[in-house]
Amino acid sequence: MKRILITGGAGFIGSHLCERLLREGNDIICLDNYFTGTKQNVAHLLDNPYFELVRHDVCTPYLAEVDEIYNLACPASPIHYQYNGIKTIKTSVIGTMNMLGLAKRVKAKLLQASTSEVYGDPSIHPQVESYWGNVNCIGERSCYDEGKRCAEALCLNYHRQNGVKVKIIRIFNTYGPKMHPNDGRVVSNFIMQALQNKDITVAGNGSQTRSFQYIDDLLNGMIKMMNTSDDSFIGPVNIGNPSEFTILELAQKVIDLTNSKSKIVYIPLPSDDPLQRKPDITLAKETLKWQPIIPLDEGLKKTIAYFDTLLKETKICQQSH
Ligand code: NAD
Ligand code: UDP
Repeated sequence: MKRILITGGAGFIGSHLCERLLREGNDIICLDNYFTGTKQNVAHLLDNPYFELVRHDVCTPYLAEVDEIYNLACPASPIHYQYNGIKTIKTSVIGTMNMLGLAKRVKAKLLQASTSEVYGDPSIHPQVESYWGNVNCIGERSCYDEGKRCAEALCLNYHRQNGVKVKIIRIFNTYGPKMHPNDGRVVSNFIMQALQNKDITVAGNGSQTRSFQYIDDLLNGMIKMMNTSDDSFIGPVNIGNPSEFTILELAQKVIDLTNSKSKIVYIPLPSDDPLQRKPDITLAKETLKWQPIIPLDEGLKKTIAYFDTLLKETKICQQSH
Protein backbone atom coordinates (compact mmCIF):
# COMPACT_ATOMS: atom_id res chain seq x y z
CA MET A 1 0.00 0.00 0.00
CA LYS A 2 1.42 3.39 -1.05
CA ARG A 3 0.71 6.59 0.87
CA ILE A 4 -0.28 9.13 -1.76
CA LEU A 5 -0.89 12.86 -1.42
CA ILE A 6 -3.14 14.42 -4.08
CA THR A 7 -3.15 18.22 -4.04
CA GLY A 8 -6.24 19.69 -5.70
CA GLY A 9 -7.84 16.33 -4.91
CA ALA A 10 -11.37 17.73 -4.57
CA GLY A 11 -11.34 19.16 -8.10
CA PHE A 12 -12.47 17.57 -11.35
CA ILE A 13 -9.37 15.51 -12.19
CA GLY A 14 -8.23 15.14 -8.56
CA SER A 15 -11.47 13.60 -7.34
CA HIS A 16 -11.40 10.97 -10.11
CA LEU A 17 -7.77 10.26 -9.24
CA CYS A 18 -8.59 9.86 -5.50
CA GLU A 19 -11.33 7.38 -6.39
CA ARG A 20 -9.10 5.39 -8.74
CA LEU A 21 -6.01 5.22 -6.50
CA LEU A 22 -8.13 4.31 -3.49
CA ARG A 23 -9.76 1.52 -5.49
CA GLU A 24 -6.28 0.27 -6.39
CA GLY A 25 -5.52 -0.20 -2.68
CA ASN A 26 -3.60 2.94 -1.74
CA ASP A 27 -3.77 5.21 1.30
CA ILE A 28 -4.88 8.66 0.09
CA ILE A 29 -4.56 12.16 1.51
CA CYS A 30 -6.69 14.56 -0.51
CA LEU A 31 -5.61 18.16 0.07
CA ASP A 32 -7.64 21.10 -1.24
CA ASN A 33 -8.57 24.68 -0.40
CA TYR A 34 -11.94 24.32 -2.23
CA PHE A 35 -11.32 27.26 -4.55
CA THR A 36 -12.80 25.41 -7.52
CA GLY A 37 -13.15 21.93 -6.04
CA THR A 38 -15.91 20.79 -3.71
CA LYS A 39 -16.31 18.40 -0.79
CA GLN A 40 -19.22 16.82 -2.67
CA ASN A 41 -16.77 15.54 -5.31
CA VAL A 42 -15.19 13.26 -2.71
CA ALA A 43 -18.01 12.94 -0.15
CA HIS A 44 -18.63 9.32 -1.17
CA LEU A 45 -15.05 8.42 -0.20
CA LEU A 46 -15.16 9.84 3.34
CA ASP A 47 -16.24 6.56 4.98
CA ASN A 48 -13.19 4.76 3.62
CA PRO A 49 -10.56 4.46 6.41
CA TYR A 50 -7.80 4.85 3.81
CA PHE A 51 -9.09 8.25 2.66
CA GLU A 52 -8.33 11.53 4.44
CA LEU A 53 -9.63 14.92 3.34
CA VAL A 54 -7.58 17.94 4.43
CA ARG A 55 -8.54 21.59 3.93
CA HIS A 56 -5.24 23.26 3.18
CA ASP A 57 -3.75 25.78 0.78
CA VAL A 58 -0.58 24.60 -0.98
CA CYS A 59 0.87 28.11 -0.71
CA THR A 60 1.49 27.21 2.94
CA PRO A 61 3.93 24.33 3.59
CA TYR A 62 2.39 20.99 4.48
CA LEU A 63 4.11 18.01 6.05
CA ALA A 64 3.09 14.38 5.77
CA GLU A 65 4.96 11.10 5.39
CA VAL A 66 4.00 10.02 1.87
CA ASP A 67 5.52 7.96 -0.94
CA GLU A 68 4.03 9.85 -3.88
CA ILE A 69 2.62 13.32 -4.55
CA TYR A 70 0.32 14.14 -7.45
CA ASN A 71 0.52 17.95 -7.62
CA LEU A 72 -2.76 19.06 -9.18
CA ALA A 73 -3.67 22.10 -7.09
CA CYS A 74 -4.39 25.01 -9.45
CA PRO A 75 -7.57 26.30 -11.08
CA ALA A 76 -7.65 25.12 -14.71
CA SER A 77 -10.47 27.12 -16.28
CA PRO A 78 -9.54 30.53 -17.77
CA ILE A 79 -12.41 32.23 -15.87
CA HIS A 80 -11.19 30.86 -12.56
CA TYR A 81 -7.45 31.26 -13.02
CA GLN A 82 -7.91 34.86 -14.22
CA TYR A 83 -10.20 35.73 -11.27
CA ASN A 84 -7.12 36.23 -9.07
CA GLY A 85 -4.05 35.99 -11.29
CA ILE A 86 -1.62 36.68 -8.45
CA LYS A 87 -3.04 33.79 -6.46
CA THR A 88 -2.81 31.56 -9.54
CA ILE A 89 0.89 32.37 -9.88
CA LYS A 90 1.43 31.78 -6.14
CA THR A 91 -0.35 28.43 -6.33
CA SER A 92 1.74 27.23 -9.27
CA VAL A 93 5.05 28.62 -8.06
CA ILE A 94 4.99 28.71 -4.24
CA GLY A 95 2.60 25.76 -4.06
CA THR A 96 4.78 23.60 -6.31
CA MET A 97 7.89 24.70 -4.41
CA ASN A 98 6.26 23.63 -1.13
CA MET A 99 5.33 20.25 -2.57
CA LEU A 100 8.81 19.74 -4.03
CA GLY A 101 10.24 20.70 -0.63
CA LEU A 102 8.03 18.05 0.95
CA ALA A 103 9.08 15.49 -1.68
CA LYS A 104 12.73 16.28 -0.95
CA ARG A 105 12.24 15.97 2.81
CA VAL A 106 10.32 12.68 2.85
CA LYS A 107 11.93 11.26 -0.34
CA ALA A 108 8.63 11.07 -2.20
CA LYS A 109 8.17 11.02 -5.96
CA LEU A 110 6.23 14.00 -7.35
CA LEU A 111 4.14 14.11 -10.50
CA GLN A 112 3.47 17.61 -11.76
CA ALA A 113 0.21 18.27 -13.63
CA SER A 114 1.48 20.63 -16.31
CA THR A 115 -0.51 21.74 -19.30
CA SER A 116 -0.65 22.19 -23.06
CA GLU A 117 -0.86 25.92 -22.19
CA VAL A 118 2.93 25.92 -21.83
CA TYR A 119 2.93 25.87 -25.67
CA GLY A 120 0.83 29.09 -25.72
CA ASP A 121 -0.54 29.86 -29.19
CA PRO A 122 1.65 27.30 -30.92
CA SER A 123 3.44 27.84 -34.20
CA ILE A 124 4.17 24.11 -34.47
CA HIS A 125 1.33 21.70 -35.10
CA PRO A 126 0.81 19.16 -33.60
CA GLN A 127 2.73 20.10 -30.47
CA VAL A 128 5.77 18.00 -29.58
CA GLU A 129 7.42 18.13 -26.17
CA SER A 130 10.62 19.59 -27.65
CA TYR A 131 8.71 22.71 -28.80
CA TRP A 132 9.45 25.61 -26.41
CA GLY A 133 6.15 27.38 -26.96
CA ASN A 134 4.80 30.77 -27.89
CA VAL A 135 3.44 32.34 -24.71
CA ASN A 136 2.56 36.01 -24.22
CA CYS A 137 4.22 36.53 -20.85
CA ILE A 138 2.16 39.67 -20.11
CA GLY A 139 -1.20 38.50 -21.48
CA GLU A 140 -4.35 37.58 -19.55
CA ARG A 141 -3.52 33.87 -19.64
CA SER A 142 0.07 34.41 -18.48
CA CYS A 143 -0.70 33.92 -14.77
CA TYR A 144 -1.54 30.32 -15.61
CA ASP A 145 0.84 29.67 -18.51
CA GLU A 146 3.91 31.23 -16.94
CA GLY A 147 3.05 29.80 -13.51
CA LYS A 148 2.94 26.32 -15.01
CA ARG A 149 6.14 26.91 -16.99
CA CYS A 150 7.90 28.02 -13.82
CA ALA A 151 6.54 24.93 -12.01
CA GLU A 152 8.17 22.73 -14.66
CA ALA A 153 11.44 24.63 -14.19
CA LEU A 154 11.20 24.12 -10.43
CA CYS A 155 10.69 20.38 -10.86
CA LEU A 156 13.79 20.07 -13.01
CA ASN A 157 15.87 22.18 -10.63
CA TYR A 158 14.83 20.18 -7.55
CA HIS A 159 15.74 17.06 -9.51
CA ARG A 160 19.14 18.32 -10.66
CA GLN A 161 20.14 19.99 -7.41
CA ASN A 162 18.54 17.73 -4.82
CA GLY A 163 17.89 14.46 -6.63
CA VAL A 164 14.11 14.70 -6.11
CA LYS A 165 12.24 12.15 -8.23
CA VAL A 166 9.94 14.11 -10.52
CA LYS A 167 7.62 13.32 -13.42
CA ILE A 168 5.96 15.95 -15.61
CA ILE A 169 2.90 15.44 -17.76
CA ARG A 170 1.46 18.11 -20.06
CA ILE A 171 -2.29 17.58 -19.99
CA PHE A 172 -4.39 18.61 -23.00
CA ASN A 173 -8.08 19.63 -22.67
CA THR A 174 -9.75 17.00 -20.52
CA TYR A 175 -13.47 16.62 -19.86
CA GLY A 176 -15.87 14.28 -18.11
CA PRO A 177 -18.31 13.93 -15.22
CA LYS A 178 -17.63 16.10 -12.15
CA MET A 179 -16.46 19.10 -14.14
CA HIS A 180 -17.89 22.14 -12.39
CA PRO A 181 -21.14 23.13 -14.18
CA ASN A 182 -20.17 26.82 -14.06
CA ASP A 183 -16.56 26.18 -14.74
CA GLY A 184 -16.61 28.17 -17.98
CA ARG A 185 -14.75 25.53 -19.97
CA VAL A 186 -16.09 24.78 -23.38
CA VAL A 187 -17.35 21.22 -22.90
CA SER A 188 -19.23 21.92 -19.65
CA ASN A 189 -20.56 25.24 -21.01
CA PHE A 190 -21.91 23.73 -24.23
CA ILE A 191 -23.51 20.73 -22.49
CA MET A 192 -25.16 22.86 -19.78
CA GLN A 193 -26.44 25.29 -22.44
CA ALA A 194 -27.72 22.51 -24.71
CA LEU A 195 -29.50 20.63 -21.92
CA GLN A 196 -31.37 23.81 -20.99
CA ASN A 197 -32.07 24.77 -24.64
CA LYS A 198 -30.11 27.98 -24.09
CA ASP A 199 -27.94 29.64 -26.73
CA ILE A 200 -24.61 27.88 -27.34
CA THR A 201 -21.87 30.49 -27.00
CA VAL A 202 -19.19 29.92 -29.63
CA ALA A 203 -16.18 32.21 -29.22
CA GLY A 204 -14.89 33.95 -32.38
CA ASN A 205 -16.02 32.16 -35.53
CA GLY A 206 -15.49 28.76 -33.89
CA SER A 207 -12.69 27.74 -36.25
CA GLN A 208 -10.14 27.45 -33.42
CA THR A 209 -9.36 23.83 -32.60
CA ARG A 210 -8.92 21.76 -29.47
CA SER A 211 -8.30 18.05 -28.87
CA PHE A 212 -10.53 16.65 -26.15
CA GLN A 213 -9.50 13.80 -23.89
CA TYR A 214 -11.89 11.83 -21.69
CA ILE A 215 -10.97 11.72 -17.99
CA ASP A 216 -10.42 7.91 -17.86
CA ASP A 217 -7.79 8.11 -20.60
CA LEU A 218 -5.96 10.86 -18.71
CA LEU A 219 -5.96 8.85 -15.46
CA ASN A 220 -4.41 5.86 -17.24
CA GLY A 221 -1.62 8.02 -18.68
CA MET A 222 -1.05 9.88 -15.44
CA ILE A 223 -0.73 6.76 -13.29
CA LYS A 224 1.48 5.02 -15.87
CA MET A 225 3.80 8.02 -15.83
CA MET A 226 4.01 8.06 -12.02
CA ASN A 227 4.73 4.33 -12.01
CA THR A 228 7.56 4.34 -14.57
CA SER A 229 10.42 2.62 -12.78
CA ASP A 230 13.12 4.61 -14.57
CA ASP A 231 13.69 7.63 -12.31
CA SER A 232 15.76 9.34 -14.99
CA PHE A 233 12.64 9.53 -17.19
CA ILE A 234 11.14 12.84 -16.11
CA GLY A 235 9.27 13.97 -19.20
CA PRO A 236 7.60 16.27 -19.92
CA VAL A 237 5.20 13.96 -21.71
CA ASN A 238 2.08 15.08 -23.58
CA ILE A 239 -1.05 13.31 -22.35
CA GLY A 240 -3.96 14.14 -24.61
CA ASN A 241 -6.19 12.88 -27.38
CA PRO A 242 -4.87 13.78 -30.84
CA SER A 243 -8.35 13.83 -32.45
CA GLU A 244 -8.76 17.50 -33.28
CA PHE A 245 -12.11 19.35 -33.60
CA THR A 246 -13.08 22.93 -34.26
CA ILE A 247 -15.14 24.54 -31.53
CA LEU A 248 -18.00 24.85 -34.00
CA GLU A 249 -17.87 21.09 -34.66
CA LEU A 250 -17.99 20.49 -30.91
CA ALA A 251 -21.05 22.76 -30.58
CA GLN A 252 -22.87 20.88 -33.32
CA LYS A 253 -21.96 17.50 -31.82
CA VAL A 254 -23.31 18.52 -28.41
CA ILE A 255 -26.55 19.83 -29.96
CA ASP A 256 -27.01 16.54 -31.86
CA LEU A 257 -26.23 14.29 -28.88
CA THR A 258 -28.62 16.17 -26.59
CA ASN A 259 -31.40 16.64 -29.19
CA SER A 260 -31.30 20.26 -28.11
CA LYS A 261 -33.28 23.17 -29.56
CA SER A 262 -30.37 25.50 -28.77
CA LYS A 263 -29.13 27.98 -31.36
CA ILE A 264 -25.46 28.80 -31.88
CA VAL A 265 -24.53 32.41 -31.07
CA TYR A 266 -21.12 34.00 -31.53
CA ILE A 267 -19.31 35.82 -28.71
CA PRO A 268 -15.97 37.69 -28.83
CA LEU A 269 -12.85 35.55 -28.85
CA PRO A 270 -10.96 36.00 -25.54
CA SER A 271 -7.50 37.54 -25.87
CA ASP A 272 -4.59 35.17 -26.55
CA ASP A 273 -7.02 32.30 -27.20
CA PRO A 274 -4.84 29.67 -28.94
CA LEU A 275 -5.93 29.06 -32.54
CA GLN A 276 -5.06 25.40 -32.62
CA ARG A 277 -4.10 22.66 -30.23
CA LYS A 278 -3.33 19.01 -30.81
CA PRO A 279 -0.84 16.81 -28.98
CA ASP A 280 1.84 14.73 -30.63
CA ILE A 281 1.71 11.65 -28.38
CA THR A 282 4.56 9.65 -29.91
CA LEU A 283 6.61 9.91 -26.71
CA ALA A 284 3.74 8.66 -24.50
CA LYS A 285 3.05 5.80 -26.90
CA GLU A 286 6.69 4.73 -26.95
CA THR A 287 7.68 5.21 -23.32
CA LEU A 288 4.42 4.58 -21.45
CA LYS A 289 2.73 2.28 -23.98
CA TRP A 290 -0.24 4.60 -23.53
CA GLN A 291 -2.76 6.10 -25.88
CA PRO A 292 -6.31 7.36 -25.42
CA ILE A 293 -9.07 4.93 -26.37
CA ILE A 294 -12.33 6.79 -25.71
CA PRO A 295 -13.76 8.59 -28.76
CA LEU A 296 -15.31 12.03 -28.30
CA ASP A 297 -18.90 10.87 -28.90
CA GLU A 298 -18.65 8.18 -26.23
CA GLY A 299 -17.08 10.50 -23.67
CA LEU A 300 -19.58 13.25 -24.44
CA LYS A 301 -22.51 10.87 -23.90
CA LYS A 302 -21.22 9.97 -20.41
CA THR A 303 -20.61 13.62 -19.57
CA ILE A 304 -24.05 14.65 -20.86
CA ALA A 305 -25.66 11.94 -18.68
CA TYR A 306 -23.83 13.36 -15.64
CA PHE A 307 -24.93 16.97 -16.24
CA ASP A 308 -28.46 15.83 -17.05
CA THR A 309 -28.74 14.12 -13.65
CA LEU A 310 -27.18 17.15 -11.95
CA LEU A 311 -29.74 19.49 -13.53
CA LYS A 312 -32.65 17.21 -12.57
CA GLU A 313 -31.42 16.97 -8.97
CA THR A 314 -31.07 20.76 -8.78
CA LYS A 315 -34.63 21.15 -10.07
CA ILE A 316 -36.00 18.69 -7.47
CA CYS A 317 -34.01 20.50 -4.79
CA GLN A 318 -35.42 23.91 -5.86
CA GLN A 319 -38.98 22.52 -5.93
CA SER A 320 -38.70 21.05 -2.43
CA HIS A 321 -37.57 24.43 -0.98
P1 NAD B 1 -10.15 22.01 -11.01
O1 NAD B 1 -10.25 23.49 -10.92
O2 NAD B 1 -11.39 21.22 -11.03
O3 NAD B 1 -9.22 21.43 -9.85
C1 NAD B 1 -8.19 22.14 -9.24
C2 NAD B 1 -8.26 21.88 -7.74
O4 NAD B 1 -7.19 22.58 -7.08
C3 NAD B 1 -9.56 22.40 -7.11
O5 NAD B 1 -10.11 21.41 -6.28
C4 NAD B 1 -9.12 23.62 -6.32
O6 NAD B 1 -9.97 23.90 -5.23
C5 NAD B 1 -7.72 23.22 -5.92
N1 NAD B 1 -6.85 24.36 -5.62
C6 NAD B 1 -6.68 25.50 -6.34
N2 NAD B 1 -5.80 26.29 -5.73
C7 NAD B 1 -5.38 25.65 -4.60
C8 NAD B 1 -4.48 25.96 -3.56
N3 NAD B 1 -3.81 27.13 -3.54
N4 NAD B 1 -4.32 25.07 -2.55
C9 NAD B 1 -4.99 23.90 -2.55
N5 NAD B 1 -5.87 23.55 -3.50
C10 NAD B 1 -6.05 24.41 -4.53
O7 NAD B 1 -9.27 21.72 -12.31
P2 NAD B 1 -8.86 20.33 -12.97
O8 NAD B 1 -9.37 20.35 -14.35
O9 NAD B 1 -9.21 19.20 -12.09
O10 NAD B 1 -7.28 20.50 -13.04
C11 NAD B 1 -6.40 19.84 -12.15
C12 NAD B 1 -4.96 20.10 -12.57
O11 NAD B 1 -4.76 19.63 -13.91
C13 NAD B 1 -4.59 21.58 -12.56
O12 NAD B 1 -3.29 21.72 -12.07
C14 NAD B 1 -4.63 21.97 -14.02
O13 NAD B 1 -3.77 23.01 -14.32
C15 NAD B 1 -4.22 20.67 -14.70
N6 NAD B 1 -4.74 20.62 -16.08
C16 NAD B 1 -6.06 20.39 -16.33
C17 NAD B 1 -6.53 20.37 -17.64
C18 NAD B 1 -7.97 20.11 -17.97
O14 NAD B 1 -8.32 20.12 -19.17
N7 NAD B 1 -8.84 19.83 -17.04
C19 NAD B 1 -5.64 20.61 -18.69
C20 NAD B 1 -4.31 20.86 -18.39
C21 NAD B 1 -3.86 20.85 -17.10
N1 UDP C 1 -15.09 28.59 -25.78
C1 UDP C 1 -16.26 28.86 -26.47
N2 UDP C 1 -17.41 29.03 -25.76
C2 UDP C 1 -17.46 28.88 -24.41
C3 UDP C 1 -16.26 28.57 -23.70
C4 UDP C 1 -15.08 28.43 -24.43
O1 UDP C 1 -16.27 28.96 -27.71
O2 UDP C 1 -18.55 29.03 -23.85
C5 UDP C 1 -13.84 28.41 -26.55
C6 UDP C 1 -12.64 29.17 -26.01
O3 UDP C 1 -12.61 30.50 -26.49
C7 UDP C 1 -11.51 28.33 -26.57
C8 UDP C 1 -12.07 26.91 -26.54
O4 UDP C 1 -13.48 27.06 -26.50
O5 UDP C 1 -11.24 28.67 -27.90
C9 UDP C 1 -11.61 26.09 -25.32
O6 UDP C 1 -11.84 26.86 -24.17
P1 UDP C 1 -11.62 26.31 -22.70
O7 UDP C 1 -11.83 27.45 -21.77
O8 UDP C 1 -12.43 25.10 -22.49
O9 UDP C 1 -10.10 25.83 -22.65
P2 UDP C 1 -8.71 26.40 -23.19
O10 UDP C 1 -8.91 27.67 -23.95
O11 UDP C 1 -7.90 26.60 -21.97
O12 UDP C 1 -8.24 25.32 -24.08
